[in-house]
Amino acid sequence: MLKGKVAIVTGSTSGIGLGIATALAAEGCAVMLNGFGQSEAIEALRTRLAKEHGVGVAYSPADMSKPTQIRELVDDGVRQFGGIDILVNNAGIQHVAKVVDFPEERWDAIIAINLSAAFHASKAALPHMVAKKWGRIINIGSAHGLVASEAKAAYVTAKHGLVGFTKVVALETANQGVTCNAICPGWVLTPLVQDQIKARAASEGIAVHQASDDLLREKQPMLEFSTPEQIGALTVFLCGEAARTITGAALSIDGGWVAQ
Ligand code: NAD
Repeated sequence: MLKGKVAIVTGSTSGIGLGIATALAAEGCAVMLNGFGQSEAIEALRTRLAKEHGVGVAYSPADMSKPTQIRELVDDGVRQFGGIDILVNNAGIQHVAKVVDFPEERWDAIIAINLSAAFHASKAALPHMVAKKWGRIINIGSAHGLVASEAKAAYVTAKHGLVGFTKVVALETANQGVTCNAICPGWVLTPLVQDQIKARAASEGIAVHQASDDLLREKQPMLEFSTPEQIGALTVFLCGEAARTITGAALSIDGGWVAQ
């Protein structure tokens, strides 16, 4: 369906970003991977995706906290694949602490990676999309872009900001063939959440599976994690013709989290 399109997925060496990159490659997109990890594992991932789906797959180690490197990531994608049609702003980190205990450098890093990176990448990618009169920007928000939880000030602030940014880009590009939407997942079992489950198990002296059940029960009425594959499928839908007039939306995929 997306044969010949070019996608950049930030933070795609793991978790949700990897699910999205895989789903886009399966639809025929050339993909620029990005994120941290061991170089052999990333190279194995790059060659596997290219071989399995018969598409071009490249990798950029750009650090999403660094505006210059973000611009280079987009330029790299354009240089290697001749353009950029789909930008998925997905890279993200978390830190859990009450405001009074929140380390300043963690606040700055979360705002930079989870929020400002989407601005820098969109600013660099949009002229290429507008020139072709076709583009899709998909920002990976969160249930925490719509409602809050305590001890996640930086993350909740960044994700609410990302939902606002999504709406502005949607308005500015409404008649230019470009759509911009946010996907707002609830719990997805990725390394980012596994770390929170382990920390909870340790602090409460309970088993990891118990901490995982408690985490779901606390927020997500449907007591089931969403999967990176489901987020990938929703991303593909947003890139397709049926979603042509969906723009500026924050789409929940959260087992009922924000319905409460
Ligand atoms: P993850 O930790 O599995 O993956 C994060 C990815 O971002 C990795 O590839 C990592 O290398 C990359 N990354 C981190 N810092 C980076 C940086 N400075 N520069 C470039 N890449 C960087 O986490 P995930 O759960 O897959 O999270 C992906 C996105 O989904 C995040 O924006 C997160 O906030 C969002 N999200 C996750 C959940 C969940 O339950 N897992 C829920 C809602 C939203």
